[in-house]
Amino acid sequence: MNKKHFIFIPVILFLTAALFSGCTVKKSGPISRTGFYFDTVISIAIYDSENETILDGCMKMASHYDQLLSAQKEGSDIWNVNHAKGKPVTVDSDTADLLQKALYYARLSGGRFDPTLGGVSSLWNFNGQTPGPVPAASDISSALTHVGYQNIELSGNTVTLKDPDTQIDLGAIAKGYIADQIKSYLQKQGVKSAIINLGGNVLLVGSKPDHEEFTIGIQKPFADNSTYITTVSASDLSIVSSGTYERYFEQDGKKYHHILDPSTGYPVENHLLGVTILSKLSVDGDGLSTTCFVLGLDEGMKLIESLPDTEAVFITDDDQLHYSSGFPQ
Ligand code: AMP
Ligand code: MG
Repeated sequence: MNKKHFIFIPVILFLTAALFSGCTVKKSGPISRTGFYFDTVISIAIYDSENETILDGCMKMASHYDQLLSAQKEGSDIWNVNHAKGKPVTVDSDTADLLQKALYYARLSGGRFDPTLGGVSSLWNFNGQTPGPVPAASDISSALTHVGYQNIELSGNTVTLKDPDTQIDLGAIAKGYIADQIKSYLQKQGVKSAIINLGGNVLLVGSKPDHEEFTIGIQKPFADNSTYITTVSASDLSIVSSGTYERYFEQDGKKYHHILDPSTGYPVENHLLGVTILSKLSVDGDGLSTTCFVLGLDEGMKLIESLPDTEAVFITDDDQLHYSSGFPQ
């Protein structure tokens, strides 16, 4: 099995579970559409409408946000900022909103969630066809000198990088934001029952048409079939996971995953395999899933317990599940 498959199979298995979780409700089944955006497989399933043009609209939105927010796409807002050599750049109000959120989680975590890790994460090449290899230590330390969320100056819709070599990467939070936008669109179209799945980031619109809750599986890390470590039954909720098993490669018998410690530039090693966040808004779930992963079990759990309407389950490398106090079990 090549490395590309290595990475995407877990996502696809998870996606299948999400799609079929409500399948028995409506005789004709949901209408659904799958696409490839944000470097991952996405799918939208609508349970209470047969209007395919709504799905067209969702895919158009995915394409629009991919073009706007991807650091890799030439001409995107983020690409423009990263290539402006420190000059001010006017961005779309969506980009400004999302940057504001990213800066919020950067401050909340004391910089352990950092949207300026772009220069370091591109060295690791986790989004490439064949991720890796481990970058030279000297390249990591030189890229690290340009990491620091304080380098982003955001004033209205104008973004200026105080260090012209700083590189923004919103990969840890963009999918959550986009899922929220797609949900608003679906609701405006009158949809009351749908599942938005952006590469395993799941956002539920309402409940099943018979008003029962959807059931979503949380993938068992590194399981080679569609094995779930637990399930969540819910309506109108965001369920977002971050984990070592989502994007990684192996070199000399060691696994290297994509969630990086901004103080070292290397993958976080704290005995966590994954974190799943339940929240109302998916932008918060996505921001928090990465933040809690970097913070680790104790600090991450403390943060979750301090936040209203937010729950989490942490999976440690002994396959134990650690639930927050209000997690619906
Ligand atoms: P997620 O799957 O939401 O946890 O996001 C992981 C992605 O966020 C990685 O692929 C990187 O692009 C980026 N990233 C990695 N480490 C961090 C970090 N400490 N803070 C912010 N973004 C990060
Ligand atoms: Mg995230």
